[in-house]
Amino acid sequence: MILIFLGPPGAGKGTQAKIIEERFAHRQISTGDLLRAHRANSTALGAEAQRYMDEGKLVPDDLIIRMMEHELGNAADIIVDGFPRTVAQAEAFGALLAAKGLRAKAVVFDVDYDVLTERLTGRWTNPRSGRVYHTVFNPPAIAGIDDDDGGPLIQRSDDVAETVTKRLREYDEKTAPLIDYYGQAGSAVHVNALAEIGDVTGQIIHALPGLAENGRIA
Ligand code: ADP
Ligand code: AMP
Repeated sequence: MILIFLGPPGAGKGTQAKIIEERFAHRQISTGDLLRAHRANSTALGAEAQRYMDEGKLVPDDLIIRMMEHELGNAADIIVDGFPRTVAQAEAFGALLAAKGLRAKAVVFDVDYDVLTERLTGRWTNPRSGRVYHTVFNPPAIAGIDDDDGGPLIQRSDDVAETVTKRLREYDEKTAPLIDYYGQAGSAVHVNALAEIGDVTGQIIHALPGLAENGRIA
């Protein structure tokens, strides 16, 4: 399946994408992780993207669409996390998929904004794999160390309250309209992302019976 995880920063998209990726053999493609890898590798795209990311703003559509065209390849079972984030990106993505005879389904993470700042300012990230933890809601076994690879976790520089506020404003203005965009096309399911992590996973599996048919259950 082609799944789009749609919701504001901190809604739990990356957390769920990693779980579904492992259990159902779907590859997670996170545009945020891709951009951070470009930054770490000092590519031209990374340098261009950095000033937008530092400001909590969206990176321009043409850069993102080109990056995704390159990344998608022949992928059939994927979770896109953090893309599309604008109507222009959604249209470009839809055209790319249609050319392969594919259609995406959006999983909308419904959440109250007042939990998001606490989730994001307590987030610790493995910059190598993109796996995330939370100091309170999902702590690693040893503080600051990833359970999987034993390497250090970091706090993202845009996970500070001031930038989080700007990111939420961008989300409201440019990304939230996609909920109706996919809803009106009959291509959206909703989950209550205020629930605990395991519960949200259960809701996603329940809402997408095709996952269990196509993927493997661990
Ligand atoms: P997103 O990818 O939507 O920005 P993340 O998956 O990175 O969100 O989650 C943001 C933070 O909230 C992380 O620290 C994560 O551990 C935590 N988190 C994710 N899902 C939940 C949940 N259902 N309840 C509480 N905390 C959560
Ligand atoms: P994320 O890791 O999804 O929280 O994204 C971090 C930052 O990367 C965002 O605040 C944007 O600056 C940029 N970004 C990620 N995905 C996109 C996208 N699809 N379109 C525009 N900017 C993006």
